Amino acid sequence: MLFSKVIGHATLKAKLIGNIREGRVAHAQLFMGPRGGGNLPMALAYAQYLLCERRGEADSCGECPSCLQTAKLEHPDLHLTFPIFLAEKQKFCEPFVTDWRECVLHEPYLDADRWRDHLESENKQLRMGVDIAQEIQRKLSLKSFRGGYKVMLIWLPELMDTAAANKLLKVLEEPEPNTVFLLVSTDADQLLATILSRAQLVKVPALRPKDLAQALREHYPELGEEEAFALALRSEGDLLEAMDMAEKNEEELFIFFRDWLRACYRKEVVTVVDFADGFQKLGRERQKALFRYGLFLIRQCALQWQQVPELVRVVGQEAEFVQNFSKLLTDRNVDRIRQELETAHVHVERNANPKVLFVDLSYRLMGLLRGKG
Ligand SMILES: [Zn+2]
Repeated sequence: MLFSKVIGHATLKAKLIGNIREGRVAHAQLFMGPRGGGNLPMALAYAQYLLCERRGEADSCGECPSCLQTAKLEHPDLHLTFPIFLAEKQKFCEPFVTDWRECVLHEPYLDADRWRDHLESENKQLRMGVDIAQEIQRKLSLKSFRGGYKVMLIWLPELMDTAAANKLLKVLEEPEPNTVFLLVSTDADQLLATILSRAQLVKVPALRPKDLAQALREHYPELGEEEAFALALRSEGDLLEAMDMAEKNEEELFIFFRDWLRACYRKEVVTVVDFADGFQKLGRERQKALFRYGLFLIRQCALQWQQVPELVRVVGQEAEFVQNFSKLLTDRNVDRIRQELETAHVHVERNANPKVLFVDLSYRLMGLLRGKG
């Protein structure tokens, strides 16, 4: 991937390129950043630049044999490691490399959900076991094919089992010359602290609204400027989320959330149960999107309630909602409403029964909104 294909992050790109040009290539680097912000494409662009045979000042050449192979994720010195569904006869990444390649080439901003969907097993946990750590060691014992750097890209290292992570740690502790580890992670809390301490941190933050809006308009030429900007704000710099919103009816989530909270506030139990049915029908990805979006709106309401409206980032009917709903917030409920939504999001991810979860959540919110907490 060329750096020019990675959205935004101009300063970071310049820094990464500068480091390579000056020969400062850390042996282990952790590309850390939220979903949809571009940590994977950034790591791929870095790998391509590192392997390029005719590096330009601002990007890889895109034409040398190395670039052509890296662009297809087929460079023999670019090793790919990622989580899979571990099973008795399914312990290594290698049999899935073609699938993973296909997924990343289709969407370089890939997240775990899309990869899981691609593998078509939505109820299983993606993981990396100790065999995969051995696979890493084995791949690195090979000589560099082109005589230059060997790059080991490990996507979502936070999904390694403890045994695998400890094995990886050993490899990181005994660096081989010209071997570069690129760890691409969205969740530092789940990584072993010892691994964190071995890697140089490359923070890839969420996209700036301006950059994301521009990328959206290139992708969806029919989007208006204002609309694209609103989506960029609403998705909080997450390209995948913004694309989901652009492709689906994003107003649907807003209306669902607003009317559901209204029913909770009015303690309309029958209506709430109807909403639980509707929630179930949304499907897992959409359910999660609803809670993420709800959290965004609640944070805006909290800002309004804390009397910092200049930080509130909504327009149109969302602004109206924020005005009204923020009046229901109090010292006692503001944090707890947010926590309830966050917990619900986690439970959806862990395959809780959607209807039970939603009715339960609704009752809690009824209590919080009516001050009985
Ligand atoms: Zn090149």
